[in-house]
Amino acid sequence: MTLWKKTLPGKNQPKSKDSSNLFSRLKAEIPVMRKQGEPPAKDPRSFAQYSCDLCSTPHPVSELRQCVLCGRWACEACWKDELYTCKSCAGIIKIHQMKEND
Ligand SMILES: [Zn+2]
Ligand SMILES: [Zn+2]
Repeated sequence: MTLWKKTLPGKNQPKSKDSSNLFSRLKAEIPVMRKQGEPPAKDPRSFAQYSCDLCSTPHPVSELRQCVLCGRWACEACWKDELYTCKSCAGIIKIHQMKEND
């Protein structure tokens, strides 16, 4: 006679694939350096060039993209295309995603 009924804990964890929720949590965590739509900083050393907010190298404005989370302007090297954020925020997103998958 088995009194022990092995009840496996149901894998009923709600899938927290709510990316908008993650996004709002990231927004709360990441300090905003620039407002959305605010132009990048002009590079004082070169004419018609703007500074990447991450590595501070001058670029034409067409090569800079504004991060949707921190608002910083990032050059190609500082940009994470798959997440559409700067590298810095992409790193924070990765940490969050690892936590979610735990
Ligand atoms: Zn850069
Ligand atoms: Zn960013």
